[in-house]
Order: sequence, then structure tokens, then C-alpha cells
Amino acid sequence: MIRLVPDWAIHYDDFWQAIKVRNLWFIKLRYAAVIFLIGFFIVGQFLLDFRLKPAQIIAFILISVIILAYNITIHITRKYVGCTPGKFNCLHLSLLQMMLDISALMILVYFTGIIESPLHMFFIFHMIIGSLILPGYVVYSLAASVSICYSILAMFRFYGIINNWIITGLVSESAHYSFTYIIFFLIVFSFMLFLSVYIANKIARQLYQREQQLRATLLKLDEAERAKQKYTIGVVHEIKTPVNAVHSILDLILGGFVGEVSEPLLQKISRAKIRTEEAILLINDVLRISKLKLLNIRASESVNIKQLVQNLIDGYQDQFKNENIEIRFSDNRPAGRMIKADPLLLELALSNLIGNSVKYVNDNGLVAVSLYDEEDSLVIQVSDNGIGIPADETERIFEQFYRASNVDKKMMEGSGMGLAIVKEIIVRHSGEIKVKSPSELAQPGRPGTSFIIRIPYSPAEEQGTEEINLSANSQK
Ligand code: ADP
Repeated sequence: MIRLVPDWAIHYDDFWQAIKVRNLWFIKLRYAAVIFLIGFFIVGQFLLDFRLKPAQIIAFILISVIILAYNITIHITRKYVGCTPGKFNCLHLSLLQMMLDISALMILVYFTGIIESPLHMFFIFHMIIGSLILPGYVVYSLAASVSICYSILAMFRFYGIINNWIITGLVSESAHYSFTYIIFFLIVFSFMLFLSVYIANKIARQLYQREQQLRATLLKLDEAERAKQKYTIGVVHEIKTPVNAVHSILDLILGGFVGEVSEPLLQKISRAKIRTEEAILLINDVLRISKLKLLNIRASESVNIKQLVQNLIDGYQDQFKNENIEIRFSDNRPAGRMIKADPLLLELALSNLIGNSVKYVNDNGLVAVSLYDEEDSLVIQVSDNGIGIPADETERIFEQFYRASNVDKKMMEGSGMGLAIVKEIIVRHSGEIKVKSPSELAQPGRPGTSFIIRIPYSPAEEQGTEEINLSANSQK
């Protein structure tokens, strides 16, 4: 089997994928070529007065039918051609297509006047296309074969060994070319063939090399990001140990285990303990997002999203009642399909969004959660008619530690880490999250916010399956 994989095509998966796409493209192009050929024949014969001879007409029809037949065969069988080097693969299919096309074109060129044929320029087009797929030595060999066959046909015709099938309506039958002219023509034609192969091959090689450089850079960036996350986890863990120790000591003092403490001091210590608890929560958030970025997650369980949202809403019922918040939940999906996801992470993300709505909606507000299908994706929308997010800040809202300027930071506790975690979780599920403010629930003085999550029902294959424990407790 001829070795067709070029040395520079290191990233086989992408390379094979590109070849498959190009093979299909050739097939579609060939259908267009058949239409062009029939159009060329009909327009030429009936409108431009080509005056083709019966043998030429038969050749035109036969070649068109043959091209169509082998194109349909290739179109049907291409699915069964694999990408295994060493076996008949899609690169061999490309080569086979090129050889068939060049042979068909050679016959057409013969029946339309060889050096006087308007179709001979298509050889150059084939050389360019071949260079985008096949290694240089194969395309150079094809160019040499075309050049030799074409020259033999031209010489045979010059010496009267084969018939002269010019298009009578286009070229005068009495036209006579000198031997020098034919030699000169053949040299220029061959030179053009080889030059096209050289240029197209060089460009294709450069493009692949660029792609490789880009991949290498992306890999380095990815490694740098992982190193950064590992460093963050290490540092934050180091900070967490003394903070935990302080928290335990304050607990002991408040519990009266270290002797009598005056009331004013007790109040100060209580406040200090609350502060350490906030610090621990923040540390856990940072650890959680760093671990998420560092590890690949499992998203393979079938999750009943309606049940999951209902459980979350039930968990907030007391808060809804106390703050007089109206909650609406609707599942508008006709089939109520299960989604492939990591249930714990999805719960964490939605709990963050619903929790934020409750936090930022103010008393007597309205929170609405709705589920619906859009093409092959599940859409989860969490909206409220609360304080909203200023329009020029919605772009930054998913950044770590970012809190909008309209939030009263003294009154509303927060770290600005929640939405960053939510986004990371959704991206890990091949989904996307968008924010809209004002929301569709907006009322005068209550612009509100709407978060719209889209997760595909059939996510792309996960690459790794490392397990990750993201619960806050596990990190204490
Ligand atoms: P936190 O709520 O702890 O500050 P988040 O990352 O959850 O952190 O949210 C980041 C910021 O986005 C919040 O500080 C707030 O300004 C804004 N935000 C999030 N959800 C809402 C909402 N439902 N309504 C208004 N603002 C919101």
C-alpha cells in the first residue's frame, strides 16, 4: 500500500477529519462538474454552434454518465472507508478520486482538441486540489503522468496517428501549429502543472505547521493554567490551616473552656468568629474553582432536572415565606428528557443562581425558574425582579471576586466567587450561560436579572474521568 500520510501531519485525528471533509467536498464538487459538463455541452451545441461530431457527443454523454456513476459509488461507500494508516483509508480514496478525475478529464480533453481544448486548464485545478491533501511526491508523480500523457496525445495528433477532435465551431479546422509551437506549448503547460503543485504544496505544508505551532502554544497555556491552579490550591490550603486554628480557639473561648470572659469581650470574639467563618467560606470557594479548573469531571449520570430544581426550591421555602418572595417554577419541555450531567455540580450551580435571586430580589419580590427545550439542548432560566445588574457590568459578572457596583456590600454579604463557579460548571458540561438585565420580570424600580443556561442533551465526549470532591465540608 502506498504511504500517503505526509510526515508533517502529526496530529492524525485532525488530519483525518480534514481529509474526510475534503473528500466529501470533492464529491459535491464533482456533482457540480457533471452539471457544468452537461451545461457546457447543451449551451455549446445549441447556442454557440459547437458543431460537435457524433463521436464527440457520445464521448461527452458517456464521460458524464461515468463520472456521475463513480461519484455516486464513492459517495455511498465513503462511510465505510476508515482512517487507519497501512490499510485502504480515506487518503487512498482521495488518490483514487484524483486518478479517476484526471483520466476522465484526459479523455474529454482528447475529444475536444487536446492543445486546443478549452478544458485542459482543469488539470491545473486538479493539481492544486491534490496538493492540499496528498504528499508532494504523489502529486508530482500525477503531474508528471498528466504531462507525459498530454504530450504523447499532442504529438500523436501532430503526426496524424490519432484523430483530430477539435470543436469545429470554436477552432478552424485548417489551423496548423508548427512543431516548435507544440513543443513550446507543452513545456509551458508542464511548467504550469509543476509550479502549481509546488506553490499549493508549500502553502498547505505551512498551514499545517502553523496549526501545529498553535496547538503547542495552547498546550503550554493549558499547562501554565494548571500550574497556576495547583499553586493557588497549595497557597490557599496553607492559609486555611491557621484560619481554622483561630476559628477553633475562638470557639473554645466562646464555649467557656478557657475561663471567664467579660460580656463586651465575648461580643467582640463572636464577631471575630463570624469573620473567620466568612474567610473559610471564601477559601473553600477558591479551592472549589481551582479544583474545577484543574480536573476533568464526570458528567455521565442521567439527571432528572425537574426533580433537582424542585428539591432546591423546597429547600428555600422558609426563606421565600419569611421574605414574602413569590416563586414560580415551570417545566415547559414536552418530553421531560433526562440530562447527562454531574448531579452534584449541577445542583451547586443552580443553588447558587436561585440563592442569588433570593439574595438580590428584596422583600416581596418574584423569582421564576423555567425549563424548556431548544433544539437538542436543555435551557434553564432563573429570573427575578430584584436589583438587577448595571448594563455595562454584565460582561464582567462571571469574573472571580467581581461584585456589581449597585450591591450594598455592607448589607449583602458575598465573595463574588459564586457566578465564576457556576460558569465553570456549565462550561464543563459543554454548555453556556448568559445573563440578561433587566429581566423579563422587570417592573418599575425593579429591573431584575435573568440567567439563561443551555446544556446539550448529548454533550461532546469527556476527555478525562477524574473524580472530584467539591463539597465545602470535605475541604475543612
Ligand atoms: P456574590 O453573590 O457572593 O457577591 P456571585 O458570584 O454569586 O457573588 O455574584 C457576583 C455578583 O453578581 C453579585 O455580587 C451581584 O452583584 C451580581 N448578581 C448575581 N446574581 C444576581 C441577581 N440575581 N441579581 C442581581 N445581581 C446579581
